Amino acid sequence: MRDSFFKKIAIPSNISTYLSHSLIIITVATTLLTGGILILQQSFYFNKTNKQRSSEYVEDQKGYIQEIVKNELEYIRLQNDAFKKRINSKISQNVNQAIHTAETIYKRYEGIKSDEEIKSLIIATISSLKFEMEYEEVFISTLDGIGVYYPRKPEFTGKDMKQFKDANGSSVILKEIELLNNKNEGFLDYDFDNKSSDNASPHKKITFVKRFSHFNWYFGSKQYVDDYFPKFRNEIAQKISSVRFRNGGYVFLNQTDGTPIVMNGDIYKGSENLHSGFTTQQREVFRQQIQIARSNPEGGFFTYKWVKMNDSIPVEKCSFVKSFPEYDWVIGAGFYLDEIHQSISNQQKALGKDQTKSILTILVILVFLLILEALIIYHFNKKYRSDFERFFNFFYQSQNSFNKINISEFYFDEFKRAGIAANKMIILREEIERKLIEEQKKATEADRLKSAFLANMSHEIRTPMNAILGFSELLEDNTQDEEDKLLFIQLIRKNGDMLLNLINDIIDISKIEANLLSIRKKPFRLDNFLIEVGNHYTETLTSQKNKDIRFWINNEVDIDEIILTDEIRLKQILDNLIGNAIKFTHSGSVWLDVKKQGDLIHFSVSDTGIGIPYDQQSSIFERFMQAEQNHKINFGGTGLGLAISKNLIELLGGKIHVESEPGKGSIFHFHIQAN
Ligand code: ADP
Repeated sequence: MRDSFFKKIAIPSNISTYLSHSLIIITVATTLLTGGILILQQSFYFNKTNKQRSSEYVEDQKGYIQEIVKNELEYIRLQNDAFKKRINSKISQNVNQAIHTAETIYKRYEGIKSDEEIKSLIIATISSLKFEMEYEEVFISTLDGIGVYYPRKPEFTGKDMKQFKDANGSSVILKEIELLNNKNEGFLDYDFDNKSSDNASPHKKITFVKRFSHFNWYFGSKQYVDDYFPKFRNEIAQKISSVRFRNGGYVFLNQTDGTPIVMNGDIYKGSENLHSGFTTQQREVFRQQIQIARSNPEGGFFTYKWVKMNDSIPVEKCSFVKSFPEYDWVIGAGFYLDEIHQSISNQQKALGKDQTKSILTILVILVFLLILEALIIYHFNKKYRSDFERFFNFFYQSQNSFNKINISEFYFDEFKRAGIAANKMIILREEIERKLIEEQKKATEADRLKSAFLANMSHEIRTPMNAILGFSELLEDNTQDEEDKLLFIQLIRKNGDMLLNLINDIIDISKIEANLLSIRKKPFRLDNFLIEVGNHYTETLTSQKNKDIRFWINNEVDIDEIILTDEIRLKQILDNLIGNAIKFTHSGSVWLDVKKQGDLIHFSVSDTGIGIPYDQQSSIFERFMQAEQNHKINFGGTGLGLAISKNLIELLGGKIHVESEPGKGSIFHFHIQAN
């Protein structure tokens, strides 16, 4: 049951159903297959490019944050230089101002006051100078390292200052003196214990020293970098915290001692330390950060989990960090990897939407194609059925008729071609039927002729036989005189000849019909042959007293022309034609024309006799046919002569035809191959 259902669906026995099913199946299969392949290809391509895209994205982001960190570091570096210059210029200005003042005093009182008095005056004036900040004030020392003037340490006056060491244990004053041995002025920096006691770590201090040429003195001014550092650090923090890039990206800045400077894109204002405070996770991130920055002077990447700005769940983040060793800072910037996951999932959603659209489009196309197909199939079926019906009706009717099919009414070329073939078949059938009827007629006619012939023959044979027998009896009688006897013998001979001719004709036609007649060609002179023919008929006509006929031969062929043919059969043909011409002419002329054309010899036998009716001119060449019924009675004959001649001429490689006008005469033209 199931099997036959599927068979019916798959291979229906009706051509149009078969075609429609096939077309629909192919369309649905092709559309779905093409669509499916396209969608699969799209998904495959998407998955393939996804990996590439995500690694490209990571690389791009890495390059970007690296660039940002580098830019910010460059900014810090420039700011740091400017910051130092600011300090340097400040303390050098102070020293220069003090030296200028001292110089003025010295010049004013040189030679007027003693050196000691001038020195006291200078110290007094310098001590009265006002400076912007504490510790900016100018000190004076001798180039031997003995304290002259230290504004906030009067106990240093006259003291050997070489005992004061910096955080590294080297004498500060000795360094200053060493510098001034080589140059007139210069900067020095060194680590020094902080002025305040709350932090024991050493602090950077910058000193500017300059010789005072008139005494064995030098002037100096010192400044703790720390005094300016908070301001500088704040400026940097301000700038760094304002940096934003791409999707909420920011720059962070920490001190390796664990002090956050810029955290989560903001200046850190809290008091927690990244070594001891914050969450374990944050501490771990900071530890990694420091480790990467320290081990890679050029900076490095590391991945960790961090809570996004304005968010609460930690997500994967990749950051680039680099150290700024001068202040033990670590600066960094990062990007969140969930952004790429987000972007991929967004693209996936977009692809999903695209694919839904594609599927819908494919379905719409499919429906459209099916509608189109239904229309085409409907049109095809209509035309096909009508063509088929037409053909079917034609075959049905052609059983009894020769009606042809109208080709132009067919729609399909195949049916048109089949129609043409069918029409040809009808024409052939008609022709065959016509021929059959003709043949039947001919057979009937031949039968009739044969019966007539037999009747004639029996008459034809009986007449000379009776004559022969009658005259033979008379001869036996012995009462006849010699003259009669001779006449009887002649008549017996004549009738015997007639009988022999008749029998010969019958033998010839029988041989021709049985294809047994053979031709024996041999060369002979045409003129000799024609002379014999001429002599024979001149003699014959002379003996026939009842006819008034002139016979002549008009030979246009060369005298010594030798031709190659069957002489006896040619003679037989000419005998038939000339015999007939004489037979059917009472008075007048009978003549033979002979011409040569190429390899052919043309003969024409003309007479001025009774002629042949037009409608009989073609049938006289058939056996037993005579132009008129009364010819038999009036002229005798068997109706075989022309049939034999026609066949002999064809055997000699030629053809025969007649031109005749009833009452005026006839011309029989024939030609034969002459070599
Ligand atoms: P036959 O002469 O023995 O009857 P043929 O076959 O020789 O038979 O000729 C057939 C018929 O053609 C003749 O019976 C006659 O009616 C016609 N025919 C032939 N030759 C001539 C001719 N020269 N003139 C008129 N009728 C002719």
